[in-house]
Amino acid sequence: MAALRRLKQGRSTAIAISQLHTSSCAFAKQHYKMLVLGGGAGGIAMSARMKRIMGAENVAVVEPSEMHYYQPIWTLVGAGAKTVASSGRPTANVMPSGVKWVKSKVQEINPDTNTVCTDDGTEISYEYMIVALGLQLHYEKIKGLPEGFGYPNIGSNYSVQTVEKTWKALQNFKEGNTVFTFPNTPVKCAGAPQKIMYLTDAYLRKTGKRGKANIIYNTSLPVLFGVKKYADSLWEIVKQRDLKVNLRQNLIEVRADKQEAVFENLDKPGETQVLEYEMLHVTPPMGPNLVVKSSPLADEAGWLDVNKDNLQHKKYPNVFGIGDCTNLPTIRTAAAVAAQSAILNRTISKVLKNEKPDKKYDGYTSCPLVTSYNTVIMAEFDYNVQPLETFPINQAKERRIMYHMKADLMPHLYWHGLLTGLWGGPEPYRKLLHLGMK
Ligand SMILES: Cc1cc2nc3c(=O)[nH]c(=O)nc-3n(C[C@H](O)[C@H](O)[C@H](O)COP(=O)(O)OP(=O)(O)OC[C@H]3O[C@@H](n4cnc5c(N)ncnc54)[C@H](O)[C@@H]3O)c2cc1C
Repeated sequence: MAALRRLKQGRSTAIAISQLHTSSCAFAKQHYKMLVLGGGAGGIAMSARMKRIMGAENVAVVEPSEMHYYQPIWTLVGAGAKTVASSGRPTANVMPSGVKWVKSKVQEINPDTNTVCTDDGTEISYEYMIVALGLQLHYEKIKGLPEGFGYPNIGSNYSVQTVEKTWKALQNFKEGNTVFTFPNTPVKCAGAPQKIMYLTDAYLRKTGKRGKANIIYNTSLPVLFGVKKYADSLWEIVKQRDLKVNLRQNLIEVRADKQEAVFENLDKPGETQVLEYEMLHVTPPMGPNLVVKSSPLADEAGWLDVNKDNLQHKKYPNVFGIGDCTNLPTIRTAAAVAAQSAILNRTISKVLKNEKPDKKYDGYTSCPLVTSYNTVIMAEFDYNVQPLETFPINQAKERRIMYHMKADLMPHLYWHGLLTGLWGGPEPYRKLLHLGMK
């Protein structure tokens, strides 16, 4: 009734409707000092850090999935270099001990009343909240998907359900076009859509089938990669290995029964091209998490609206954000999450003491550009898309050591460093290795 009265008094419809919903969802109530939404990379890292600051009993994480996945390794799973089993661990095993795991889905966020509502009807109130809900994949925005994944020769490294299909398609390849796509939306790990192309090239060379393949990368972007230094190296590789790159081509339909992919030319509206494929790798359109998008925490595009320096919400000072769900203007990666976790830890420590946040996030992100089964270009850069490299060597060069970092060292850093709240990115090492000059 109170919410109805406020509606009549002309308060924002969105807020009033969400409050109406909350009251109907409150079959059970819980309260936590620190509520973390999402138990992915950012959510688990921050819950481990918050446990250290305020004690496990004060922290809860809302996460519905029984399994936690290290998504970056899916690039190698799609090329048969790692198993999908190695990418996942039970969520129970990564949840910091003593922290409350609320095993349900957030349905609604009401920052005006400091509450969230879950899909089992529980209302959880909080003093402080960290939003780490990731982003949403939209295979359904491409005509013919996701049902097209029921056919052979099509895969996608972006989902645990479809990543092994990439490897099957690669092994099945006999002759024809192998086609790789990049959608007309922001994505997570902007290098992943083309890494699988280089691995495909390497696999087909290894198995003697390269001569029978026409390798095509159709990207919606006007560039091969957003940072010039690394893009220059990638264009060289593309030329040397005879890979065909078509810019501004956006996948709009998959006719999986006929093995055809339809692309629109983003520079010539209405112009489409149909490509027959023998293997298709789809990078789906992506967008904001729908729960964030429908809440007052979203910016106009639907992303969590946070201060880009300290990760505090722009309107609700007791709300913070990390990772893919935010509107931080950098490439969304787990490496970025690591750097953000150190900054956010500092911001929250300051806020808890009624002090001003003082440490600034520089937008650090990293994308290990896998260019074969034993080489990687290790792209690291900041908000200004300027290289911010950890090692005092030219990281735009393909290197074997960087492949080992990607395939062997980084998974360890993720499971034992980031998720336990101990790894906050390479900044201290970069400073050391560059004698304090970077
Ligand atoms: C193929 C691929 C390759 C990649 N390669 C790299 C790489 O080489 N390097 C790199 O650094 N990064 C890479 N990434 C990106 C990296 O995995 C993500 O950027 C990172 O996981 C983001 O962390 P996050 O916590 O923001 O989101 P996520 O880790 O995706 O976690 C979000 C969590 O929120 C939960 N959730 C969603 N909705 C709700 C809800 N309503 N209620 C409760 N919980 C919810 C989800 O279940 C999930 O657990 C890659 C990703 C992919 C898919």
